[in-house]
Amino acid sequence: MSEPTVIEAVDLCKHFDGGLVKAVDGLSMTVARGEMLGVTGPSGCGKSTLLHMIAALTPPTSGQLRVEGVEIGGLRDLAAYRRDHIGLVFQLHNLLPHLTACENVEVAMFGTRLSRRQRHERARRLLAAVDLGAFADRPPTRLSGGERQRVALARALANEPAILLADEPTGSLDARAVDRTMELIARLRGERPELTVVLVTHDPRVAQACDRLIHMADGRIANLGSEARI
Ligand code: ADP
Ligand code: MG
Repeated sequence: MSEPTVIEAVDLCKHFDGGLVKAVDGLSMTVARGEMLGVTGPSGCGKSTLLHMIAALTPPTSGQLRVEGVEIGGLRDLAAYRRDHIGLVFQLHNLLPHLTACENVEVAMFGTRLSRRQRHERARRLLAAVDLGAFADRPPTRLSGGERQRVALARALANEPAILLADEPTGSLDARAVDRTMELIARLRGERPELTVVLVTHDPRVAQACDRLIHMADGRIANLGSEARI
């Protein structure tokens, strides 16, 4: 039996500057629960804009975008949606430099029902799960690029999101750190088979690890022939 659809885009568009820039332009796709979808394509083809719409960081100009059956355009509490459903990892980790690794993860749990102590304990567990238990009290400035990216991954997972969105998460890492990050994502998927992952990447090894790839060009899926199951 096929898995239910978690993300469905129908003729999705995001235009900027009064339509002069068509960042996403008539994109239709579905992503199934538990799937890891890789998104590739040249710089400027709309990959980040697509992820930002799924994360409700920016509203679509037109078209439909349903996540777990909910139309993103009709959401009222966007912050709650992001906090409760979405984990986000960017190319540059976007950690707060004056906080420790642990505090950076705790921040993601503000606004939840967890007490301060529960947030702290959970953050420590999450950091241990990405093999950073010993570094929980360090600020990001005292961590390597790969370690920072693992803190960002721990932070993204803090509220057990249904969907993990990663925008070139290994783009600034060396080969060893890329392997480590991908191992962790594989382990995570083993533990949480229902987790849906959408991952933008230029790295062929990262693309290899995906269940399915879409190639974007000019704001839409380039052609069905390039939608390959690996
Ligand atoms: P990618 O992630 O594939 O490199 P983006 O989604 O970042 O591409 O951008 C797609 C296009 O939209 C680019 O031409 C970019 O310059 C443009 N764009 C992205 N965000 C904005 C914005 N906030 N205002 C105007 N143009 C934007
Ligand atoms: Mg981008």
